[in-house]
Amino acid sequence: MKPKGGDRDHMRDLIEQAAADLAASNHAVVLTGAGVSTESGVADFRGPKGIWTTNPKAEAQAYQRYERFLDDPRAYWEEMLGAVGTSSNFYQQIRKVAPNPGHYAIARLEHLGIVKLTITQNVDGLHEKAGTRNVIHYHGTVEKLRCLSCGSRFSIDEYSLERLPPLCRCGRPLKYDVVHFEEPIPSDVMDAAEAEAMKCDVMLICGTSAVVYPFAALPAMARSRGRGGSGVKIIEVNAEPTPLTHQGISDYLIQGKTGEILPLVVDEVTKLSPERDKRS
Ligand SMILES: [Zn+2]
Repeated sequence: MKPKGGDRDHMRDLIEQAAADLAASNHAVVLTGAGVSTESGVADFRGPKGIWTTNPKAEAQAYQRYERFLDDPRAYWEEMLGAVGTSSNFYQQIRKVAPNPGHYAIARLEHLGIVKLTITQNVDGLHEKAGTRNVIHYHGTVEKLRCLSCGSRFSIDEYSLERLPPLCRCGRPLKYDVVHFEEPIPSDVMDAAEAEAMKCDVMLICGTSAVVYPFAALPAMARSRGRGGSGVKIIEVNAEPTPLTHQGISDYLIQGKTGEILPLVVDEVTKLSPERDKRS
């Protein structure tokens, strides 16, 4: 245990430890959740001023959204675009938000050749805006449309959305790529994420309490491979302890805001591996 008043030293130790683990890794992956994006001002749903707290009808609508699409794709799109009902064009608003230092730090770790892939629960596309190239959108993204029949995805910018619903090249209606309630995670996404959990030697979990399944199973899957050696180091950067902390799935928690801690980790990594810094 650290002596009294050693909290700051303890934090410093953990940041150095994370940097050392990342610098020594061969295949580090990052998992991110809402905590990374709330620092960019992306509205949450269930907080005091959350979208659903202030508008319960919108929550009820959200639970019916997937079925709505299956029943009537045009009505789905009219709701999504704010033409009818209680839904404002929330997804269009998200697309105007900018990344924060946490997103940029993750992109930097990828550019340094350390992080190989980022798996995010966030639908906002902010990792790419910050410069991260390899991203799995576990719950889809507002930047794309997806065909449930053939699995094709298209940039939303390819569609004017004047004629609804937008149609896939296969002729079927497209929905937002975002995975709605009751909608299965696309199998290509689930398979790719699980393969990474079985392959990584460091898993850096940022801004997620990891309680939403099946995403929440990824850390446990990695942990089942053991600690160190042929196993995996699991590092958490979260505002509060989570089930991953309590259940000993993570090796350690660096407690705080991702936008403050991740840039400090990157600073330490570049001190440890200056040759990597030159390559980027
Ligand atoms: Zn299609």
